Amino acid sequence: MTQTSGSDPVLVLNSGSSSVKFALLDPGRGERVLDGLAERVGTPDAALRIRRYPAEPVSEPLPAGATRRDVVAKILDRLGDAPLAGAGHRVVHGGERFTASVLVDDDVIDDIRSCIPLAPLHNPANLAGIEAVRAIRPGLPQVAVFDTAFHQTMPPSAYRYAVPGEWYSAHGVRRYGFQGISYRYVCPRAAELLGRPLHDLRLVIAHLGNGCSAVAVRDGVSVDTTMGLTPLEGLVMGSRSGDVDPGMFGYLAARAGLTVEQITGELNTRSGLLALSGVGNDMRSVQDAAAGGHEQARLAFDVFVHRLAKAIAGLVTTLDRLDALVFTAGIGENSPVVRAAVLARLGFLGLTVDPAANADHGRATGGRITQPNPRAQALVVPTDEELMIARDTARLLAPA
Ligand code: ADP
Repeated sequence: MTQTSGSDPVLVLNSGSSSVKFALLDPGRGERVLDGLAERVGTPDAALRIRRYPAEPVSEPLPAGATRRDVVAKILDRLGDAPLAGAGHRVVHGGERFTASVLVDDDVIDDIRSCIPLAPLHNPANLAGIEAVRAIRPGLPQVAVFDTAFHQTMPPSAYRYAVPGEWYSAHGVRRYGFQGISYRYVCPRAAELLGRPLHDLRLVIAHLGNGCSAVAVRDGVSVDTTMGLTPLEGLVMGSRSGDVDPGMFGYLAARAGLTVEQITGELNTRSGLLALSGVGNDMRSVQDAAAGGHEQARLAFDVFVHRLAKAIAGLVTTLDRLDALVFTAGIGENSPVVRAAVLARLGFLGLTVDPAANADHGRATGGRITQPNPRAQALVVPTDEELMIARDTARLLAPA
C-alpha cells in the first residue's frame, strides 16, 4: 500500500476493551469508504464485520486467540491498495496533559500511559490500537484525539470537587468531562445552521447515546459539563446510574456487604435505564414499553427526562443566556418523544416544541425543532465522531 499524506483517506480506529471499531474516511468530503467492527475480540465468537460502501456489510470469523494486534493487521490488510494518509485514534482520557489532538510519538505514548489510572479500562485498549498500527506500519503517521480535551477550558469553579486538596494535587481527582470529540463536531455545525458565528453563541448540547452527557458552550469553548472524573457522573444513561449520593457507598458496604468494586461495577453496567425499566438499556425499548403502559419503563423514561431537563437548566446558569439547545447522538437525533418531553420542561427558556418539525427531526427546518423565537431555539444536529477524528488527523498531517 502506498503511504502518502494530504487528502488521502484516513483510518479511524476506536479500540475498546473487547471491540475495535474502524472507518476509512475522506476527511475533505466527509465520505466513508468503508467501516466496520471487530467484536468479542479474545473470545471464540470473535468476528469482523466490514462494510465497503455502497455494498452491504460482510462478516468473517476471527481466530479465537486473535489479539488486538492481529485484528488491526487484518483491518489494515482489508483496506487493500488504497493510499492512506495516516491513522487517527480515539483516546478516552487525556488528563490535564492533552488540551488538543496530537501527532503520536514516544512522549505522547508515555503521557497517554500515565493517564491509565484515570481510565483503567479504556486507555490501555486505546494504546494497544496505537501500538498495533506502529508495529505493523511503522512509517504511518498517527494522531491521538481525546474525549476529554474539549473540556480543558472549564474554569476551576466547574472542574474542582469540594474534596481534600491532595486528592487533586496527588491523584488528579477533578472533573474532566467526556464526549468532547462529538461536541467539537457539533459546535460549528450548530453555528452554521443558526447562521451565526460560534464565538458569539451560548449553547447547551446534549449528547444522548448509550452514554449521555451535556455541555455548556460559551463562545465556542466548554465551560461546564455533566460528566466528571469518569464518564459515570451526571445524567441517567443506558446502563450507568449518573449522579448518586456518594454516601451510598458506605451505606451499601455496611448494609449489604458490597465492596467498592462491586458497587462501582453495578453503577456502570447494571444501572441507568436498564435498572429502572426492567426492559433493557435501549431507549427505543424503554419508550415503546412506556407507551404501552409498562409502569417501570414509564418511570425510567420520567427519571431520564427529569434529570436531563434539570441538568440543561443548570448548565444555562453558566451562560448569560441560551441561544440554542442542541440534541445529538442516537437518542438526541432519533427520539422526538424524549426531545418533546425535555422541551416541555424548558418553556421558561423560551423553548416551545414545534411538533411537526420535531417529528421530522428538524430535517426540513435547518435542524430547528422549536417554534421560531429570536430568544432561543432547539436544534437536532447529527454528530460524526469518526469524521472529527479523520479531520484532526488530516490537519495535523498537513504540511505547515
Ligand atoms: P453509542 O453511545 O453507543 O454511540 P448511539 O449514539 O448509537 O450509541 O445511541 C444509542 C441509543 O440511541 C440507544 O439508547 C438507542 O435506543 C437510541 N435510539 C436509536 N434510535 C432511536 C429511536 N428511533 N428512538 C429512540 N431512541 C433511539
